[in-house]
Amino acid sequence: MYLLALDESGTHNEAPVLLLAGLAVHEADVRPLERALHAVVAKHLGPLGLNPHTHEVHAKDLKTPTRGRPARAGYRATRPSEWLTVDASVRLAVLGDVYAALANFEPADPAYPLRLLGAVIDRSHKRYGPVKAAEAKAYDHVLHRFDEMLRRINKAASVEQRGLVLHDRRTEHERRIQDQAAVWQRSGARLDALIQVPVFTDSRASRVIQAADLVAYALWRHYQPTTDDAYSTALWPLVDTNDRDEMSGVIHVTPKFGACPCPPCTSRTS
Ligand SMILES: [Zn+2]
Repeated sequence: MYLLALDESGTHNEAPVLLLAGLAVHEADVRPLERALHAVVAKHLGPLGLNPHTHEVHAKDLKTPTRGRPARAGYRATRPSEWLTVDASVRLAVLGDVYAALANFEPADPAYPLRLLGAVIDRSHKRYGPVKAAEAKAYDHVLHRFDEMLRRINKAASVEQRGLVLHDRRTEHERRIQDQAAVWQRSGARLDALIQVPVFTDSRASRVIQAADLVAYALWRHYQPTTDDAYSTALWPLVDTNDRDEMSGVIHVTPKFGACPCPPCTSRTS
């Protein structure tokens, strides 16, 4: 079994892209991956006398810890970040080291590697300007890519691998994702390798969900008008690749296709 933990970025109206991305982790690697991320936090917070268990790995918060905000129409209140009291140099060291931990992670069985999957929808694309349309497209792509990856792996697997999708319960969009899930289930789309129910879990209890946040953030920075590759460079090798050596795990839906210099687009045109 593979777990695919997903996270979204760019769900506000002015965002240049809507992005859904995460990591597909084989069941045997879930605990080791969580331990590897936890060890980074413990290494940096231990000497400061802080409890690593209460510190989530959340990329935006590590860069700029939130002071929290009260509830407002349609949005829940957020707490001040537990990282507020931690020095910026320590926070950035944690961020660098958690990305390194993902990039250097060694799976228990090389036949079942850690894989990055995602969809980046350019909002300048007329059809995908509205958030809902872009989000539906992104989910459709990511689920099909996950299914395709499992089918490829299953050709050589001794035990049939199925997939389960995990999502952070605290997303502001849980309702919309659940509605979308109902559409997938009715659509009869052939996603045979997936157990077609997204499971909502609390990111505070799951460093695998936190890893999805790291992946989404790194891609988000890459796809901004001023590209920032500080975190994405280390992650591109994790993207699932098909038999034609294309980075099939990540799709960039853009009117620029063919001329886009991003690694997934380039892998398809070269
Ligand atoms: Zn591209």
